[in-house]
Amino acid sequence: MGFADFFKNFTKDERALPKEAPSHWIKCPSCNALMYYKEIITQHYTCPKCNFHMRINLQDRITLMCDEGSFIEFDKELSPNDPLGFVDKKSYKKRVEENASKCGRPSSIVSGECTINGISAQIALFDFSFMGGSLASVEGEKIVRAIARAIEKKQGLIIVSTSGGARMQESTYSLMQMAKTSAALNALSQAGLPFISVLSDPTMGGVSASFAFLGDVIMAEPGAMIGFAGARVIKQTIGTDLPQGFQTAEFLLEHGLIDMIVQRKDMKKTIAQILEYFTAQA
Ligand SMILES: [Zn+2]
Repeated sequence: MGFADFFKNFTKDERALPKEAPSHWIKCPSCNALMYYKEIITQHYTCPKCNFHMRINLQDRITLMCDEGSFIEFDKELSPNDPLGFVDKKSYKKRVEENASKCGRPSSIVSGECTINGISAQIALFDFSFMGGSLASVEGEKIVRAIARAIEKKQGLIIVSTSGGARMQESTYSLMQMAKTSAALNALSQAGLPFISVLSDPTMGGVSASFAFLGDVIMAEPGAMIGFAGARVIKQTIGTDLPQGFQTAEFLLEHGLIDMIVQRKDMKKTIAQILEYFTAQA
């Protein structure tokens, strides 16, 4: 299997529910239990039978994390250049245009300011539906600007990741964002301000290899796939079978790579508690 096929399979959104919300019953992708769609929505897109956490879209994520009506978006109009004039099956320019018309913005990150149980914070959230939530120059810049605002306003920072990794169409420019965001996070740390990294399904590649694992607190959603290279690639490279549950949030917690697994229904409350604790120490 070539890389293109691997990537195509990888970005298939198998955990996502159908876009058109059916007015009747749906089946849990994990345990096959039948549930009423409205029930799933009130459960924040988790299965009431097996607790499977489905992927949720960006708007639902903002609703879940931020106090109602508090989110103010920044840097919405930042759009990517095409420094390499990159063309695969279609041009990068065309891909960005198509994704921008689908998602309403030319990048895979939405960033802004909000309050979380009354505590003001900077937040950046990935949108997997924009080119697999890939990290490129605009996404890196949005994160760095969110960090700058956090330092200026003495606020904490939250990044919610769901990403396939660095965007290959910008090549080195994408990889540079790993260093750029990491350096900016160091400045946030020097300012004594907290960074909470939330890993949702999936968090892979250059995102997991940089800022996503630099959180003062790193939390993940149950069952989220988190890693660098895909399991199949690693298996082929090292020529041996991988342990059960490899690259799941639970496996990472057991091996000390993340701090906690947080149920989606408890996410906002937990983040608010951590923000309160860190800012009280400042
Ligand atoms: Zn289920």
